[in-house]
This record gives sequence, structure tokens and C-alpha cells, in this order.
Amino acid sequence: MLANFFDSVLQLIVRTSTDLPPDVRAAMKTALGAEPAGTRSSQALTIIAQNIDLAADAEGAICQDTGMPTFEVHVPLGANQIWMRQQIREAVAEATRRGKLRPNSVDSITGKNSGDNLGPGTPIIHFDQWERDRIEIKLILKGGGCENTNAQYALPVELPHLGRADRTLDGVRKCILHAVWNAQGKGCAPGAVGVCVGGDRTSGYTHAKEQLFRTLDDINPDPRLAELEASIMSTVNDLDIGTMGFGGKVTLIGCKVGALNRLPASFFVSVAYDCWAFRRLGVLLDASTGAIEQWLYRYPSHPIIPMLDQAGFTRTGREIALRSPLSDADVRALKVGDVVMVSGRMFTGRDAVHSHLMKHEPPVDLRGAVLYHCGPVVVKDGDAWRVTAAGPTTSIREEPYQGEIIKRYGVRAVIGKGGMGAKTLAAMQEHGAVYMNAIGGAAQFYARSITGVDGVSLLEFGTPEAMWHLTVEDFPAIVTMDAHGNSLHKDIEQESGAHLATIGA
Ligand code: SF4
Repeated sequence: MLANFFDSVLQLIVRTSTDLPPDVRAAMKTALGAEPAGTRSSQALTIIAQNIDLAADAEGAICQDTGMPTFEVHVPLGANQIWMRQQIREAVAEATRRGKLRPNSVDSITGKNSGDNLGPGTPIIHFDQWERDRIEIKLILKGGGCENTNAQYALPVELPHLGRADRTLDGVRKCILHAVWNAQGKGCAPGAVGVCVGGDRTSGYTHAKEQLFRTLDDINPDPRLAELEASIMSTVNDLDIGTMGFGGKVTLIGCKVGALNRLPASFFVSVAYDCWAFRRLGVLLDASTGAIEQWLYRYPSHPIIPMLDQAGFTRTGREIALRSPLSDADVRALKVGDVVMVSGRMFTGRDAVHSHLMKHEPPVDLRGAVLYHCGPVVVKDGDAWRVTAAGPTTSIREEPYQGEIIKRYGVRAVIGKGGMGAKTLAAMQEHGAVYMNAIGGAAQFYARSITGVDGVSLLEFGTPEAMWHLTVEDFPAIVTMDAHGNSLHKDIEQESGAHLATIGA
């Protein structure tokens, strides 16, 4: 039965994870053209563009966080959904074995990673019947960094910089602007938002995510919502949050709004924020064989174009070369805005490692170390490990621990994305350390800066959460928090807050 179904789903997963759809590519190319050359956002977008091309060419994961696989399946009457669900789960496990998906399914009680992306609630598979004779499968891979920036509002509500949001479309507009402002660079801007007006708390979020299956250039069939989407897109970029929250002209590449009926007492606005690594794709299958008849979102009229016409990251001559381990003098010489090229040893560490270090001595000497907030995709070649995708993860999650870890163990540099808060900034000033922002999602680009995997500690936490000992060469990043109390993230948040007040009025 449906002899090709498994292979078709596997192909869908691999292409979704490795090759952005044409409408997202076009929007990112427009963003690249909008930022003046030499600015922080322009440099970041150049790395992103190169990363998109590299991922497609090498069939590697665009971002190391391959997200929560969410399948929307339409089947003809009478189709065997139990069998299809099992096949989809097996295809997810196979894509994970092949390194196209990172093992991302974690037991919420024990913290144990299942290793194959299967577990209660993962992957998400929704079935619907329709009266057509083909099977449609759409897939979105939405990562954790942008998922954490989702927002839900119960109207009426008072919003910072915007005042009261009433139960009107203008109130909805204010909520969307607030959600984008609040995300700053933490969701790997420039992003796209799916929005639901109404529903209840659960259906609202589901419908908001469903909006992300629309193409970025479509027009909402409801003229009232079309007008709302246009109004958001014509003003939101004046926030000047820019790529990765570095400041810049493009903050959002799409806004798609749907509406559901609600209870009289409730008025929810749910916002699903997706990052620039907006991975969604779909297929139409022959219902008797399961073979792919047509790819969705990829039409001959929208051919895949390369993102970059010339070489990628080009040096300006102002980059600062750093070799770890770093000294107090090395880091105190750096200031916000410096572009650095890091070489030498780097250790990865994210949620489980930070929590562990609060109660245990580190497994390696961290004096002068560079700590990289990253959960890489790592595959084993014989006895050796190889990193195939290694972009930064959202740093703010480590805010409760980072200052103490810098103080206790002498870490000199933290690399991540989205910036950190006041506690970490104070510890950096007191103990001599800096925060460097790498470009979120640029997993292929950064994997190529890693020249060796020299060891691993705490592998029992699972591959994304283990502490990997990496050797890197010319790993580019931007200093966004320095050892003198300066934070680009704090400045952009304040400046964009002032813009929000003007736009939202
Ligand atoms: S691009 Fe950023 S937000 Fe998106 S999945 Fe990757 S790390 Fe997460």
C-alpha cells in the first residue's frame, strides 16, 4: 500500500530543513538590498544569505535548531490515517539518523533526549479529510528561539509605549507591533508573524501558526485583514530593530492574520513569530502510490535563485583577531560594535550545562575560555565527531546563571544570539568578559569555521546539550556587550521603544 509514501515524506523533511522556499528567499534578498553596505545588519544578512546557499548546495540543515516538525495532512475519504501517522514518524526518525534533523524531543520531566525526535507530542501531526483524490502534506519546522518569542494578549490590555489596546482591529494592530518589538533580535529577526484574532487560548495559537503556511506575497481574502497586514508591513520596519536586533531597516518580512470566532467574554490575539529561517514546504501525493506529484511553494514561475551574486562575508580590514584563551586585557580592549574573528578553542554550553555548572565543577578549565551558546548537529564518522550545523542559540535563557559562571570559573567571552541582561552585563564589567553576537541560524556558515572536534563532556545530556570542545578558525561575531557596561541590546530596545510609541499612536 502507498509504496512511495515513506520516501516522499522523507524527501519533504530533508528539503524543508535544507532549502528555503522561493518566497522567503525573495523576501530575504530584498532585505539584503535594503540595508546599506558595511552596516551591522548588512554584514549579518550577508552571512545569512551565504548560509542559505551553503545549506541548499550541501543539503545541510539551514539552522542547527530544526525545530518542532509540524505536519498538516489532508487525505481523501477512507485513507488509513493510523498507518500514515506511523510512516511519518518513521520518516522523522530516519531524517534524524541522517543528520537532517537535530534530535530535539526532550522528556519534560527527566530532561532526557529521545535521540530520534519521537516522543509524546513530537512530531505534531494534524489530519483533515477533504473531497479531493490526492494527499496533501505541508510541513513547518519552527525553532525554539522564535517559538519562545510567541505572544498571546487578552484584550483590553495596557501595553508599554502603546497605551490601551481595545477589542478592535486597532487594538490587534498594537498587539502585533508590541510582539515584534518585544522579540527584538531574540527570535532571529527579520522574522514573520502569523496572527490569530479570537478563538480560545489553544485554538488561537494553532490558527496563528497555520497562517505561516501562507506565502509571504499572498493577499488576505478578507479585505479588513488585508488592510491590517498592509498597515503593519508599512510601519513595522520603522522600529529599526534590524537583523538580529543590531539596528537596521528590515525587522519583519511578513505579517499574516486570520480570525476565529470567540466567546463573548474573551478576546485573544495570538502571535506566532517565525525567524528568517522560515522553513515550510509541502507536497501533493498520488493517493494510490504515495509518490510526489507536485511540490507546493515551489512553482516554475518562482525559480530558486542564489542569494548571493558574489563571495560572502568580506572583510573590511577593521576586524579584530582574537585567539583563545583570552586575557583580561584582551577583552577590556574590546568595545560594542567591534567585529571579531575568533580562533582557537571554544566550548559549547547551553541550558543543561549552565544548570550543571551551578552545582558542579566544570569538566574542563574555563579560565580565559570562550563559551558558545550552541546546540550543534554532530554526526559520528567512525571514531571521530563532525559538526554539520552550529549556529548560536538564544542567550537570554542563561541569564540566571551566566554572571555567576563568569565570576566562578573565569570565562572571558560568551558567544550567542539576542544578547543578555543586566546581571550578566554587571558581571562582565566586574570580572572582565564580553558578549559577542553570532548570527542566529547561520548554522552552515559557522560549521565551516569549526576545524576540529577535540572532545566532548557531559554527553549524557544529549548531543545538543553536551559540552563540545571545538577548535575554530576565524569565527566572526560582533561585540554587543562589552566589559565597560555598554550593551547594544539595551540601546536598541530603548530606541525602538521610542519608535514604537510614534508608530503605534
Ligand atoms: S534561525 Fe534562530 S530562531 Fe530560527 S530556528 Fe535557528 S536559532 Fe532558532
